[in-house]
Amino acid sequence: MKQTQLCTLVKKSEPIKGVFDFTVEAPAIAAEAEAGQFLHILCGRGVFLRRPISICDVQDKLVRFVFEVKGEGTRELSEFSVGDKIDIIGPLGHGFYVDNEKYKHPAVIGGGIGIFPLLKLSQKLYEPLVVLGFRSADRVMMEEEFRAVSAKTLVATDDGSYGYDGYAIELLGKELMESECDVIYCCGPTPLLKAVQSLAAEKNIDCQLSLEQRMGCGIGACLVCTCKTTHEGMDENMRVCKNGPVFDAREVIL
Ligand SMILES: Cc1cc2nc3c(=O)[nH]c(=O)nc-3n(C[C@H](O)[C@H](O)[C@H](O)COP(=O)(O)OP(=O)(O)OC[C@H]3O[C@@H](n4cnc5c(N)ncnc54)[C@H](O)[C@@H]3O)c2cc1C
Repeated sequence: MKQTQLCTLVKKSEPIKGVFDFTVEAPAIAAEAEAGQFLHILCGRGVFLRRPISICDVQDKLVRFVFEVKGEGTRELSEFSVGDKIDIIGPLGHGFYVDNEKYKHPAVIGGGIGIFPLLKLSQKLYEPLVVLGFRSADRVMMEEEFRAVSAKTLVATDDGSYGYDGYAIELLGKELMESECDVIYCCGPTPLLKAVQSLAAEKNIDCQLSLEQRMGCGIGACLVCTCKTTHEGMDENMRVCKNGPVFDAREVIL
């Protein structure tokens, strides 16, 4: 059982409207964190249930997470100031499986808030191709950070106001017609996850998907966040918080 940690907020910014970039001092979490794992955060006095937010980056004792304000919980979280202590449990869940001996041509694809756990992942991979999708130019984030840790980073916007005009999945599909790829990692909205799952199946490429599901306890007890899988050939309900959030695309039913 993970302990709650009171973590001091040491850095806070709002890189684009409604999206907050927080760095907390959390040595115990930093020591264990794997790419794709998440934090379960008590967002404030008015919100009883914790909210899951992915680990974006780790440097020494510092843990970074980035979140978009969606409702009451993330709005309260955004109101913390530098110097405040935030109650966090983590790292939780089962992150991305990385094997740089096996996979020499990894591709990473993220959409919207799904890009945040992919930064730490990209740092660990061998020269990944990174494809990022956003609604429009004013929502584009972290492009330079991904560029610094990838062989190539491409950006798509749904409205064509920046980079490729269209969906990130189309851009990945085009790239894979010309480049080798032996594994795809994805995090983002369900339509993107489904499209990536189909592309990987069609090309018979290993693929890992990080699911976003509403959660209760975050530690596998309450069963709020189950998803359907065909684990080891059997129909099975799995808990996104405990067995995931990362699943093998061949096993998860979206
Ligand atoms: C493993 C995991 C990692 C996540 N990592 C991040 C992250 O790094 N950055 C980030 O911005 N968000 C992340 N999320 C989503 C984040 O947890 C939700 O946006 C947040 O819980 C919303 O809480 P709220 O109280 O602000 O909004 P609520 O009032 O609870 O909901 C507001 C809106 O958000 C939707 N929503 C709530 N929870 C989720 C969810 N889990 N998935 C999709 N939609 C949801 C609701 O349907 C509603 O439309 C992650 C979710 C999971 C499961």
